[in-house]
Amino acid sequence: MTTVQTLDGPLDTSKLGRTLMHEHIFNLTLEVQGSHPGFNGWDEDVEVPKAQVALRALKAAGYDSLMELSVIGLGRDVELIRRAAQGTGVQVLLATGLYTYDVLPRLWHFSGPGTLIGGDEPLDELFRRDIEEGIQGTDVKAAMLKCAVDAPGLTEHVERVLRACCRVHAVTGTPLTVHTHPETRRGLDVLRVLSEEGVDPKRVILAHCGDTTDLDYLEELAQSGATLGMDRFGLEILLPTEARVATVAAMCERGYADQMILSHDAMSFTDWFPPGMKEQIAPNWHWLHVEQDILPALRARAVTEEQIDKMLVGVPRAFFERG
Ligand SMILES: [Zn+2]
Repeated sequence: MTTVQTLDGPLDTSKLGRTLMHEHIFNLTLEVQGSHPGFNGWDEDVEVPKAQVALRALKAAGYDSLMELSVIGLGRDVELIRRAAQGTGVQVLLATGLYTYDVLPRLWHFSGPGTLIGGDEPLDELFRRDIEEGIQGTDVKAAMLKCAVDAPGLTEHVERVLRACCRVHAVTGTPLTVHTHPETRRGLDVLRVLSEEGVDPKRVILAHCGDTTDLDYLEELAQSGATLGMDRFGLEILLPTEARVATVAAMCERGYADQMILSHDAMSFTDWFPPGMKEQIAPNWHWLHVEQDILPALRARAVTEEQIDKMLVGVPRAFFERG
């Protein structure tokens, strides 16, 4: 028996069930919300109950678990998440790490490798504590490490975060999700660093692979053993649904159903857009889109129930069971 950490403590991986492996409940710019409360419509008295309703609907649709990948830079707040998840029946898994495409917050500019003061990377200790001791003074432990390598590539600071995640993975065994940017083939840069750090790609999800239709690139990534995140269903503004579905179907046909996860990268609330904007620009970007629209479209393209089951249940479970 293997267990994975959740909001409610360790969970037997056989109980994960249908799992959305890349989502957010709240995506908040906490410093701005602290100094300008309510910016872009954030109101926790409204948004916590709203998130509860969405999570209950997800559970009712047959989904048991949700990986909440908010970390530093995305406004992770364990108490808010706990209140949103309470009583919904959805098992929420949390992450640790840091989300930036270019530079670190200023407080890490002066100490750490390559800085004025130098010394060991201070991020390692923060990530390790979230995994081994608990998040924000609670006993809730992180189940995943998370960082990002986007279009700007391995900037000095982005590389610091990725290498910190690799080192903490080596110490704790916690798997890693890396946000990537397929258009610039960032997944290959990530694989190179993983190899330098001795991290087995089988322990890594390369997120946002679903943003491309480049099958050769995806196959190259998959051949490393990494799991591909087909994880932005509903973000038609980046790639239309039909192209996303066709790509997953083609990868299934090539035999990669056991290396893909299906998710939305959606959130109940984000303060990145003015009120109503998210719904206007991405009306299908919500946690039920895979169930309601994507699975029927995949079946229409001859993706089998067994393959769907793999991508929603088998792959998440196996991912957490690798040691
Ligand atoms: Zn995300």
